[in-house]
Amino acid sequence: MSIQLLSDQLASQIAAGEVVERPSSVVKELVENAIDAKATTINIDVRGGGRQLIQVADNGLGIPADELEVAFRRHATSKLQTAADLAAIHTLGFRGEALAAIAAVSQATVVSRAAGDAAGTRLILDGGHKSSRETVGAPQGTVMAVENLFYNTPARLKFLKSVTTEKRLIDEFVTRYALAYPDIRFRLTHNNRITFQSNGDGRLLDVLAVVYGPETARQLLEIGDQRVESEEERPVSTPQSLISVSGFVGPPSLHWANRNHITLFVNGRWIKDNSLTYAVIQAYHTLLPTGRYPLGVIFITMPPEEVDVNVHPAKTEVRFRRQSAVFGAVQRAARQTLVADSPIRSMSSWSGAGTEATTPGWGGSLDFAAFTRRNDQGELDLEWLAAADSTITGQETDNGVGFDTSSPENLGGDKLPIMRVVGQVGASYIITEGPDGLFLIDQHAAHERILYERFMTDRANEAIVSQGLVAGTAVHLSPSQATLLTENLGRLGNLGFQIEPFGPNAFMVRAVPAILIKLDPARALHAVVDDLERGDTPLQGHIEARIILRVCKTAAVKAGQILSPPEMEAMVRQLEACRSPHTCPHGRPTLIHLSVAQLAREFGRI
Ligand code: ADP
Ligand code: MG
Repeated sequence: MSIQLLSDQLASQIAAGEVVERPSSVVKELVENAIDAKATTINIDVRGGGRQLIQVADNGLGIPADELEVAFRRHATSKLQTAADLAAIHTLGFRGEALAAIAAVSQATVVSRAAGDAAGTRLILDGGHKSSRETVGAPQGTVMAVENLFYNTPARLKFLKSVTTEKRLIDEFVTRYALAYPDIRFRLTHNNRITFQSNGDGRLLDVLAVVYGPETARQLLEIGDQRVESEEERPVSTPQSLISVSGFVGPPSLHWANRNHITLFVNGRWIKDNSLTYAVIQAYHTLLPTGRYPLGVIFITMPPEEVDVNVHPAKTEVRFRRQSAVFGAVQRAARQTLVADSPIRSMSSWSGAGTEATTPGWGGSLDFAAFTRRNDQGELDLEWLAAADSTITGQETDNGVGFDTSSPENLGGDKLPIMRVVGQVGASYIITEGPDGLFLIDQHAAHERILYERFMTDRANEAIVSQGLVAGTAVHLSPSQATLLTENLGRLGNLGFQIEPFGPNAFMVRAVPAILIKLDPARALHAVVDDLERGDTPLQGHIEARIILRVCKTAAVKAGQILSPPEMEAMVRQLEACRSPHTCPHGRPTLIHLSVAQLAREFGRI
């Protein structure tokens, strides 16, 4: 076959494939256009999972009568003129492709009246070709009706999923936009039945209540504006100060088997981003059972020139100029919210060194960790103090390092009720009774949790030991890393580093924190710079990982070990005092609850 130019029609159909993959992509593009047109009401009507009809009606600015045809041409847009505009996108659309693409693969009708126009215009297109145009009476705004999607591209039609699946995908898109724009009133119908409706009162929580149900919405924790705080923490202007994060996260008690409940928006645009999704998940580190994922509805706002949305025609993938700064901002926002809203924070009895784990109503002051240390003839003699890292001195000095209050041990789980110890089963589980039914506690997992929180608190109070290097090591950094490091030299000194400037973008490392002595000094420094770039507390990750390792080594209460009543009592009291008692540091559950209602059901009483 000789080389030939494709016909316009075929070229449009091919191009359409990237923008319009399925009915939900039509809904997305039309809704985005309505939002860009400053609509305050958007009604979406769908029939046959979107194959028969997708109609989006808005009360926005409308399209002037003489621009109606142009709007359907490829690369026709009112949102962009120059390359400079492209570098700072303020609207959801900008590529001027959607209407052309949609019209090319469907039978489309648009009725629009622009503000100031006396009447509206109706334009009908068939596979992108105009078939009729007339002046009609119409309210201000635009109604786009897309019928028989893919009627002229059978290959596409074959790839559509069931009506139910396509319907679900449409629901998801509409829900996302309703969350991103609480002041717009959305209504979605499938075959004339309303499936979603938001009231447009501007309150995100109201939309969340519609999406997740009022019960769940009540439990959600609102993210404060993190921008201000990070500026306080870092007086030097850093990329973080340009990024603000808001929205809601769920408490650790709400979790799902998949990540679908983490929804991310950048400047009002829903995005897919595995790395930021992971940032949210990381904020729940050690708080969620393994394989379970939290809820997060996260809005990231930043100067438009910091983010490139022109990566793919669907505009759901973006690139950040400073990926790690965004990652850090999201992770910190989620963590700090979990800390601030933690109900356990009010438990002042546990805020100190953590050795007084007394609970009201329990007379003794038997400390499980201490208890096991004292017992020198049983298997419980774990000499946990002796097992403490040799690299850490025992002195309690305030070295000013301080611990990030957002370290996981401070995060709120849900507090346990006061429990009565009933006994032990299988030499592995402690049975207790609480206000609503009974609990089975995995004694090993519980001991791991108790030790983890203990060690984290101890660590916060311990001096960090600096270890001098026999010969200094010169490390070269990128200019931006070098600036970041220079700004943080004092902070790193507190952590045990001794670093001196050594020429442009180079540093001489003379001492490192003892916990990093096994690392090559250059790698140690790079690890810390990575933490700083992400906005994380330097070394926090290393410290946590080491503590978890140590917990594994020292958690002497194993499965298969018979515990005396005082031992069980001590362990239960200390688990009650834990901040995040529901999981062990590996994310496995520490206990199972059987409610009275559940028992009644099992016995066929209700
Ligand atoms: P883009 O959104 O990238 O500009 P589209 O093909 O989606 O490209 O739309 C082309 C143009 O048509 C838009 O730039 C806008 O001027 C106009 N338009 C489309 N939909 C609407 C609407 N609902 N209300 C007002 N104008 C619209
Ligand atoms: Mg558009």
